[in-house]
Amino acid sequence: MLSTMQDDQLSLAHLLRHGVRMHGDSEVATWTGSGSRKTTFDRIGRRSAQLAHALRELGVTADQRVGTFMWNNAEHLECYLTIPAMGAVLHTLNIRLFPEQLVFVVNDAQDHVVVVDGSLLPLFARQLPEMTTVRHVIVTGGAAGALDAPSGVTVHSYDELLDGRPETFEWPEIEERSAAAMCYTSGTTGDPKGVVYSHRSIWLHSMQVCMTDSMRLTDADKALVIVPMFHAMSWGMPYAAFMVGTSMVLPDRFLQPGPIAEILAEEKPTFAGAVPTIWQGLLQHLDANPQDISHLREVVVGGSAAPPAMMHAFEERYDVPVLHAWGMTETSPLGSVARPPKAAKGEEAWRYRYTQGRFPASVRARLIDDNGDEVPWDGESVGELEVKGPWITGSYYGGADPDKFHDGWLRTGDVGKITPNGYLTLTDRAKDVIKSGGEWISSVDLENAVMAHPAVAEAAVIGVPDEKWDERPLVAVVVREGEQVTAEELRTFLADKVAKWQLPEHWTFVDEVPKTSVGKFDKKRLRAAHAEGKLDIAHF
Ligand code: AMP
Repeated sequence: MLSTMQDDQLSLAHLLRHGVRMHGDSEVATWTGSGSRKTTFDRIGRRSAQLAHALRELGVTADQRVGTFMWNNAEHLECYLTIPAMGAVLHTLNIRLFPEQLVFVVNDAQDHVVVVDGSLLPLFARQLPEMTTVRHVIVTGGAAGALDAPSGVTVHSYDELLDGRPETFEWPEIEERSAAAMCYTSGTTGDPKGVVYSHRSIWLHSMQVCMTDSMRLTDADKALVIVPMFHAMSWGMPYAAFMVGTSMVLPDRFLQPGPIAEILAEEKPTFAGAVPTIWQGLLQHLDANPQDISHLREVVVGGSAAPPAMMHAFEERYDVPVLHAWGMTETSPLGSVARPPKAAKGEEAWRYRYTQGRFPASVRARLIDDNGDEVPWDGESVGELEVKGPWITGSYYGGADPDKFHDGWLRTGDVGKITPNGYLTLTDRAKDVIKSGGEWISSVDLENAVMAHPAVAEAAVIGVPDEKWDERPLVAVVVREGEQVTAEELRTFLADKVAKWQLPEHWTFVDEVPKTSVGKFDKKRLRAAHAEGKLDIAHF
């Protein structure tokens, strides 16, 4: 029997209209380095209509890809809303990709137009001659004149292009399963792979972001969106904010701890999202320059494991609860969120909060061992995490890397365990697990244990070849400014925290841990530095 329900399409054109009409006075503040420039959802709606008219004139008439090479700012938000709402496909370009990867993703997606921040123009311009499908470059911030375009490419000023155009637009009806946006994974090996989100997937994901067991966004919130809009769709926060009227603070290019602290002081957001390295940096800054940040009702951290010591520091010293979440570009990205079950109190609640979290109803999960068999959710058995759901990709753009899919499930490459009540703990990336004498050592567990030492700012652990054991852990430590600590002291510190056979015997001190384009520990570069003998290692 068929249902009697209407089959209304979930489209971002509706989302845009809804946000503008219901929450027209919600604000968007973009940081300028000293103070913010402010706009409202209502004005963003009118500018989006103008942008849509301009893009139509530049030949964006169907599902052409429109790239953005931008920081988090109001213009980027206008692109986020306009491009999908007019039926085209938003392609967020990661400004930190290596040049050849940037050229690869633009050509692979066949971007027709790219909108570029004036402040990023020199970075973009160098690669432009190799971008074979780009016909128009639109530059924000009045810097268009600075670009010497190759033949066949026209350069426009963003503001001039919008100026004087109608402030309404006939947004088309869009089939909900059609492409709305795409984002390439920032993998450290091989070519980046494209993930294509649909209107429907973004809509459903936005609802999840707002749900109470997730980020709980409401119109009473002001969200500081630090996680880049060019990485995993800013964790879905911009679209979710438009759904419920959450005001936003966008930091533009000011991502250092000092400016973030200033933004907090001036804008007093109630919510914020960023990767652990940003929070870690802010914590060090705040410890040296104390400031009240209790206006933050909560902050969400993901992208890599949140060190428990950092979670405690924010909560106990600054009265700011840290919510840990897991996800991937491939999962839109919200996959699991670590809100403890209601019965858990005190230490038990903390143990749940350290995990990567519990899966929402729409995300199905399973763990698969080396033989391809499913392992139980007993909180102990370890396997590769596979997931499935309406905002989880079922393939990569163009069918790249089909091995990452298994009977319709996404193979995440993350290794972990799940408790009987559905809480995921990741023990590693499949490629980062240290295989020592037939047993697995979790690099993440060791990193967290070392980072709990007060003199340690950062610690990254990689497996290094070992004749007897196959692999043994090597710890790269960044010491906190003004502190001193030896490898011997750190080993003693670990003695009652990890099993004896896991105690690392190789240690090195570095000025900083190399990071990927999105601020995660780049263990590939650390391994290369080790292989080339560039690390000064203390052995025990
Ligand atoms: P990306 O697509 O660049 O966002 O990377 C996704 C990967 O980041 C995941 O597959 C995990 O390996 C890692 N990741 C994301 N969130 C977490 C988390 N909370 N804890 C540990 N690793 C995480």
